[in-house]
Amino acid sequence: MVAAMATPSTTSNGTSNGTSNGSQERLSSYNPATGDLLGSVAIFSAADVDAAVARAKIAAETWSTRSFATRANELDAFRHALAAEADKLADILHRENGKPELEALTEVMMSLGHLKHAAGIAEKALATKKVSSGLLANFRATISYHALGVVGVIGPWNFPINTPMGSIAYALAAGNAVVWKPSELTPLIALEIEKIAARTFALPDLLQVVTGAGATGAALAKSAVNKISFTGSAATGKRVMLAAAERLTPVLMELGGKDAMIVTDDADLEKAAEAAVYGGLSNAGQACVAIERVYVSDAIHDRFVEEVVKQVKELKVGGDDGHLGAMTSEAQIHIIRDHLEDAVKKGAKVHTGGPGAISGSYIQPTVLTNVNHEMKIMVEETFGPVIPIQKVKSIDEAIRLANDSKFGLGSSVFAKKSARSIAERMRAGMTSINSVMAFAGIYGLPFGGVGDSGFGRIHGEEGIREFSRVKATAEQSFSLPMNMMSFRQKGDMPKQLRGMIKNLYGDGIISKAGDLLRKIRI
Ligand code: NDP
Repeated sequence: MVAAMATPSTTSNGTSNGTSNGSQERLSSYNPATGDLLGSVAIFSAADVDAAVARAKIAAETWSTRSFATRANELDAFRHALAAEADKLADILHRENGKPELEALTEVMMSLGHLKHAAGIAEKALATKKVSSGLLANFRATISYHALGVVGVIGPWNFPINTPMGSIAYALAAGNAVVWKPSELTPLIALEIEKIAARTFALPDLLQVVTGAGATGAALAKSAVNKISFTGSAATGKRVMLAAAERLTPVLMELGGKDAMIVTDDADLEKAAEAAVYGGLSNAGQACVAIERVYVSDAIHDRFVEEVVKQVKELKVGGDDGHLGAMTSEAQIHIIRDHLEDAVKKGAKVHTGGPGAISGSYIQPTVLTNVNHEMKIMVEETFGPVIPIQKVKSIDEAIRLANDSKFGLGSSVFAKKSARSIAERMRAGMTSINSVMAFAGIYGLPFGGVGDSGFGRIHGEEGIREFSRVKATAEQSFSLPMNMMSFRQKGDMPKQLRGMIKNLYGDGIISKAGDLLRKIRI
């Protein structure tokens, strides 16, 4: 079997896909499980990308003036059309990405949920809000939200629909047009979605796809988009930031992770093991919020490992109905093999799988113990079907090790008594308590990380506001005798200001009464 790859080529077979943009060069997409050529797509040059962004700007001008209800209706129609094609979309996903049918269908469903959620919350999340005008009591102070214009979305190959849709749905609902650059490994699924968008949205060019490799992404980052929402590795994220800096284009970074799970001695052992297996191995471990390391209390470590190994041995690798599909990227297989070999060389014990259990584009799920932070497998993103389990003596040690990472995307804790306090102490953008990855399935929760896992948030109200421009307005309702915003002052202003400072902020009566009121409320 050959891992998926996409290569620029000047030839195209009869199964070519993609919009015609005048470019001669084409990019081929392969099935990672079989090596079969699935089709070829256009490679968008920088000029092609700029032209797409210019068309999107025209669409955005009209779309941003549409009411929330009109936009929601069109997003509903788009969702219905995608749902009607769910089997076809899942099939392309299965063939192009390598994930089993069940996971492909799950991804389609999750993506549709974003469209529904974004359309449902936009009006409330972006409603104009009144805030206290404080000292300027004669003013009406409001915060309003406005569309940015065009959002450039650069997506990865591991969740080629759901991850970009976590930006696209919210960007559209907030009144923006979108230009989407999918990974070179998964262009066909993006083009299928673009086709459905083109026939459901009344405006042309509202959602466009620009296919190609890294250079096309770089062109989008340099283009006249009003914001870039990037999902991918930290290394590429830095390149995108540099490119976007030329025009001071704001960026949102959803980067990699090294999610930790903590299991304390009072945890439900079987459930924790089940969650570690799912969290570590779903999508063959190719998830930014995959469980990449587990810290288990020494009192239950051996029983936990036994249960994890038992459950892992029940899994099927490969086939349409397998639990784990083919790895999407050949480059990623090299990284996983390197991490496994490094761990074994440094003393890790292999319970299942291991570096010898890689065959073509399939990797047998691997459980490791006797691991430590000297090993790559515990500190670098592996992005494969591996569950390394480290024994810890205390909750404090578990938290210290979990936080000993440059990444900070998701995390998980299995405990009874101290679950919430452990969750609070974990340095991560998201934590699931007595579950894994649940935060990613709750559309109202903001999704994103800290440190090398990036910044900015997608999903939910915070996500939709990421694709809006915030405007502060102060409107004078009536005049007061003392106008702070004027040189034409009456009376002894310095004296009046000294009195105000003492009374409002010092030990004057109004200041002290305010302090007391706050303390009573707390
Ligand atoms: P990459 O960083 O390799 O690529 C991400 C995207 O950037 C792809 O579309 C890629 O195009 C494009 N790209 C490549 N070079 C450039 C460039 N110079 N300028 C602009 N765009 C460029 O990541 P992967 O696709 O390999 O995805 C895996 C990574 O994504 C992992 O680290 C994973 O953790 C992270 N991820 C994070 C998520 C999150 O929400 N935090 C969710 C999912 C994944 P091309 O593929 O054509 O090279």
